[in-house]
Amino acid sequence: MPRKGGRGPRQPLSQKRPGATRRIPVAVTSKGPRPGAASRIPRKSTKAVPAAALPTGRKRKGAAKGLAPAALAAHAGSLWDGLAALYPDAHCELDYRDAWQLLVATILSAQCTDKRVNMVTPALFGRWPGPIQLAAAPQEDVEEVIRTTGFFRNKARNLIAMANAVVDRHGGEVPSSMGDLVLLPGVGRKTANVVLGNALGINEGVVVDTHVQRLAARLGLTTETDPEKIERVLMGLFPRDRWTLLSHLLIWHGRRVCDARRPRCHECTLVAICPSAAP
Ligand code: SF4
Repeated sequence: MPRKGGRGPRQPLSQKRPGATRRIPVAVTSKGPRPGAASRIPRKSTKAVPAAALPTGRKRKGAAKGLAPAALAAHAGSLWDGLAALYPDAHCELDYRDAWQLLVATILSAQCTDKRVNMVTPALFGRWPGPIQLAAAPQEDVEEVIRTTGFFRNKARNLIAMANAVVDRHGGEVPSSMGDLVLLPGVGRKTANVVLGNALGINEGVVVDTHVQRLAARLGLTTETDPEKIERVLMGLFPRDRWTLLSHLLIWHGRRVCDARRPRCHECTLVAICPSAAP
């Protein structure tokens, strides 16, 4: 059954910042830390790394040299513990019943809120339940149903082309490999990761959307700005079995506390270990 989100943080949000005496940039590029670093992250970190104890990175964007991989791995573990405790029920906030519905919903979610997509998809799936039906749908009719999600002409064109490709190349089944998914019209690595991780239970990568991009930087995990490079850094810092949930944790925190324009640091339980925390 589809799940609905919307729950906020479960813990009191005011917290002092022991040890957070200075703001220190922490950085790692897509090339670091060393291969195998992720395996050294404890399954359950026992001790948070205070912001003041984090290694100092070079000012140059994307700098990696001079950082201590072990300290960064410990920092990643502390962030995981904090976020997992804060959002024990973090999950994909798009409503879906199977891989097909999640694929369609994720394509619709570009430049649109999950809430808005969830308002549109019941009518869409009611009228065209699967790829065979959507492949034969008139584009104008699809446009009308998805209009409120924005960019509706492009999205309708992509959805119909994607449905045709799923029918023609994959017998009407959503493919279960990154290679096949990204060859579908309108499907990039981010969408493929959403489908693989949530509907098919395959940790192929980390979904890097605007929230993950922002949080990864603010939390001192990377100075990379390219989504694929950020993804590679995160894949190196966290064990594979955490990749899908990691993106949900970052997205939930980005939506609820670490706002793009006005991060609510005074309410944030990560303030003691966040190098971007406001004083
Ligand atoms: S809200 Fe502030 S302290 Fe919390 S993660 Fe964002 S920048 Fe860091």
